[in-house]
Amino acid sequence: MVVSRAELAALDVADVLAPFRERFTLPEGVIYLDGNSLGPVPKAVPGRIAEVLSRQWGQSLIRSWTAHGWMGLPFQVGGKIGRLIGAEPDSVVVADSTSVNLFKLLAGALALRPDRRVMVTEAGNFPTDLYIAQGLMELLGPGYERRAVDDPVAALDSDVAVLTLTHVNYRTGAMHDMTKLTAAAHAVGALVLWDLSHSVGAVPLQLAADDVDLAVGCGYKYLNGGPGAPAFLMIAPRLQAAFRSPMTGWLGHAAPFEFAAAYRPAAGIARAVVGTPPILSLVPLDVGVDIMNEAPGAAVREKSLRLTELFMTLMEPLCNAHGFRMLTPRSSERGSQVSVAHPNGYPIMQALISRGVIGDFRAPDVMRFGVAPLYVRFADVWDAVAVLDDVMRSGLWREPRFHVPRPPVT
Ligand SMILES: *Cc1c(COP(=O)(O)O)cnc(C)c1O
Repeated sequence: MVVSRAELAALDVADVLAPFRERFTLPEGVIYLDGNSLGPVPKAVPGRIAEVLSRQWGQSLIRSWTAHGWMGLPFQVGGKIGRLIGAEPDSVVVADSTSVNLFKLLAGALALRPDRRVMVTEAGNFPTDLYIAQGLMELLGPGYERRAVDDPVAALDSDVAVLTLTHVNYRTGAMHDMTKLTAAAHAVGALVLWDLSHSVGAVPLQLAADDVDLAVGCGYKYLNGGPGAPAFLMIAPRLQAAFRSPMTGWLGHAAPFEFAAAYRPAAGIARAVVGTPPILSLVPLDVGVDIMNEAPGAAVREKSLRLTELFMTLMEPLCNAHGFRMLTPRSSERGSQVSVAHPNGYPIMQALISRGVIGDFRAPDVMRFGVAPLYVRFADVWDAVAVLDDVMRSGLWREPRFHVPRPPVT
């Protein structure tokens, strides 16, 4: 593929998703390739927040819980996320963090398979997914086992209660076959729990058609819900009546305002709720999810694949000249990021950021570039790779200021 910057700029002009870039605040002089870690702020957010502060909280005070629908907001935004991920109606709610939701659903999955004591995951899963599973196993005590392996399908047997995987790998961008792996878990009688943190808003999902049992996902990555935005969880309707959460908070109660002494789970997805929803954090997520739902999913996926393909193609000469190693699969089994390994990845990324190209670094040697199709342009990919090439040729990255360790950000 021989391309020029002018051809790419022409693609950007013709891009059906181009108008979506205008919906976000993006600083001048920055190419933002870290929306897989923290999406940018949608321009509609400050106005929506201001209205909630002044008119709702400011004027209606506590009456807002009903007058302005605050109580229903986690279910309303959950319903919109449900549409985005192809889940059944009333199967998604926004709550807590991804980590906490993993704990609730993993424990709930084990309780749904009381004769089984094993959960299977991938050794290369995101740390919180591994740690939450480890902590839960320790809490449950002897007899419970976490199998964190390279080949999770090979670890499936009739002792397995739940297979839990992250759909798109945070480090490499490789994407699992959700249909196939869900079927593999079901074939041994196990449930499946998918972490959609790096998928939602980036790749098409069809949870209902894939017969997925349980899922969690992150609000602040491709959904652009803001730093620490609440996460979501999905429980297939066929499992909801039997599902029991290990965190029996008052807002997951059948009648929270009866203030009864004993816990009785709410009907439906509400039983997975723990406590009071963070209204000020739900508002930006609502805005971000609305934008995502407006964007045609097929166009998002097509542009994402073209952007990552372009990135990988333009990186080929740099791999040869400067020793980068491509980690992201060239097949279409990938999400919306490109990852390369380099022994000096840390200072190279710091030098790149100093030149206005923002990606991130994951120890020990991974440089990640997220290409969110709603606001990253084809010409941005060209420019980013050109700056990277310059950082290598000029030796900018060798400057001591780029070698100072900094605390990482998620
Ligand atoms: C980002 C991410 C999380 C984040 O969890 P938090 O509880 O929001 O910190 C969890 N799992 C995966 C796979 C992620 O990519």
